[in-house]
Order: sequence, then C-alpha cells, then structure tokens
Amino acid sequence: MLHLILFGPPGAGKGTQSAFLVSKYDLVHLSTGDIFRGHIKAQSPLGLEAKSYMDNGKLVPDSVTIKMLKEEVNKHSTAGGFIYDGFPRTVAQAEALDQFLSERHEKVNLLASLEVPEEELKLRLLERAKSSGRPDDANEEVIQKRINVYKEETFPVKAHYQSKNRWIGVDGVGKIHEITDELIKAVDAVI
Ligand code: AMP
Repeated sequence: MLHLILFGPPGAGKGTQSAFLVSKYDLVHLSTGDIFRGHIKAQSPLGLEAKSYMDNGKLVPDSVTIKMLKEEVNKHSTAGGFIYDGFPRTVAQAEALDQFLSERHEKVNLLASLEVPEEELKLRLLERAKSSGRPDDANEEVIQKRINVYKEETFPVKAHYQSKNRWIGVDGVGKIHEITDELIKAVDAVI
C-alpha cells in the first residue's frame, strides 16, 4: 500500500498536485486542513477546538491532529493507498505516523517536497483568498505566521524522511503539468 506525503509550505501547490496524483494512483486524499474545515462547517466539537488555532495561523495540537488522522486512515480499509497533504506538520506527527504504519507493517514510501520561494507563496495565497473563502488566506499577518510556523515546526519533517532516504525535492514553480510529471517520476521510482 502506497503512503505518499505531499510536503511543502502553505501555497506550494499540495492540494492542486494531490488531485492529479489521487486519480493517477487511485489513492485516498487526506488533507488535514480540509478535514478540519469540514468539522468547522459542521460545527462539531473538534471544529470548534481547531478553529481558533487555524484562524490565527497556528498548528492544531499534535494529540488532536494525530488522533483525527488515524481515524481517517482506519475509515478507508479497502484503500489502495493514501496521499497525505498538510500532514505531518511536526516531527512528533511524523513519528506518530511512522509508528502507526509500522503496526500495520507499512511505511511512508516517499515524502515529495514542493519547493517554492517565500515571496511567491505570499502572492499565491493572497490570490487564492479571492476564491477560497479562507480567512487564513486573506490576512497578510496570518500568512506570515503560517510561513514562520512552517519554517520552525514543519520544515524539520523533511530531514526526518531525508535521513531514511525516502525524500525527493521538486521545483514547485512552473507549469502545473510539468510539476505533476516530476512527481509521477518520483512516485514511479518507489513503487
Ligand atoms: P492547510 O489547509 O493545510 O493550509 O491547513 C490550514 C490550517 O489547519 C493550518 O494553518 C493549521 O492551523 C491546521 N492544520 C492543518 N493540518 C495540520 C496539521 N497536520 N497539524 C496541525 N495543524 C494543522
């Protein structure tokens, strides 16, 4: 079973590229951000808990996020594989995922990191705000906070999988289909 992490800062194109990879490899797409937004819309207790963190560009606590992620994976017992988008975002989340998968005699096959310069990210997020309806895309301070959180808390996740030789970096600036082709090459090399 394929477990693919699509990694990168906010605005790197993880959601866009996930959509192509999901149909190419018949994967279940797990975006923790989308799942949290679904809970907020449904006004569930989890949504109420997550909302204040998200609106301020902070990470939802690991314990909450990890529990939710495991439940989502367990919901899809017949899946051919998973693409994780926006998870893991801390080394603790990566370690929890590794442990969870090893109990299933599985592992993360690849972390593919979309590399995009910071200035480009900010422009993309402000552009996305025009149609996403996301309050965290519309505010420059919150955008900067999310980028800083990425640098401080999420970036080390890359080294975690680099040290296991299960990492590839892909230039995330360019034509969308060319970036998809690079990702497909990287995935084909590990399956
Ligand atoms: P995203 O849709 O991936 O940009 O995530 C939007 C927001 O949801 C983030 O800024 C966090 O507040 C929260 N979030 C999403 N995924 C995670 C995660 N793996 N860990 C903690 N918080 C998360």
